Amino acid sequence: MSEAQAQFSVLKQTADPGVADAIEQLIENGEDHELNRINVLDFSVRTGLDEERVISGFLHASRLGLFDLTWNVLCPGCGGVLDAHATLKSLRHDDYHCGLCACGYEASVDEQVEAAFTVSPRIRRIAAHDPDTLPIWDYFKQVFWSSGVDLPANFEQLMDDLAEHRALIVAKVNEGVPLRQIYRDVDALIGRQGYDNRHRVYPGRVIGHQISKVHSRLPRSIAAGFGIRSLQTLVGDLIVERMHHRSPLWADGAISDHPATPGLWAVEPHIAFRDVGVKFEEILVVTSSGSAYWLDDDLPHVRRWQRTAAA
Ligand SMILES: [Zn+2]
Repeated sequence: MSEAQAQFSVLKQTADPGVADAIEQLIENGEDHELNRINVLDFSVRTGLDEERVISGFLHASRLGLFDLTWNVLCPGCGGVLDAHATLKSLRHDDYHCGLCACGYEASVDEQVEAAFTVSPRIRRIAAHDPDTLPIWDYFKQVFWSSGVDLPANFEQLMDDLAEHRALIVAKVNEGVPLRQIYRDVDALIGRQGYDNRHRVYPGRVIGHQISKVHSRLPRSIAAGFGIRSLQTLVGDLIVERMHHRSPLWADGAISDHPATPGLWAVEPHIAFRDVGVKFEEILVVTSSGSAYWLDDDLPHVRRWQRTAAA
């Protein structure tokens, strides 16, 4: 009898037999990602088994060595796992830092800590035991984010569909189409693709803005995710540009009803499917003659699209 089989038979005697069977099924037949950071509440819903019995069953199984239980400290901003502890006692109460949100947090056990069960490598080896070998999005799904965060099945498609926006925007700017109309063309393309326009929730609903030097003596603070100094510069630019009836902001209002003015534009179309959005943010160069090109074509997302197109 293998180590796992011996443990399953002990589990059947100590835990609810239905739960023990479901756990055995999962370990034997589940996909790798299903055995990583198992959310026991989801497991209870999926299997229709009683929640308390499921929790108790998983705790028994962990004691037997079938699973490793970790207490994960989650980022309240993005749901990323900032730290994982083997016991609740080792939880610190401050100085957790999220690289993705660029923010520090204090841990609160009630809201920010999840218990997650991962199959022990002695029982079954899964990809998440070797996180460095995972493709990037699997890494984010399985390692970076907590068990409560998942990406939709069409996530790769959502990323791919952003490519059309990059091509559309530079082509329309080159044709001298007013920025307001390009915004509407992007909106129409988003609609045809079956997604939502997510850049409409940015301040001013902007899809981009002109880049200028920051002149400010205000502190480097952040307001709603935007640096105060850049907001102040933008407001200053807005006043100057309004006098010329054009805007450094690129949105869908009358003030954007002009072709792109020469200079650098930071462009960030942001498309979403349900509660997951994807965007790129790139510099568009508009020359004094009105022609336009993307500053850099050798970028990770562009290379990704090229690989997809070649495949
Ligand atoms: Zn975060």
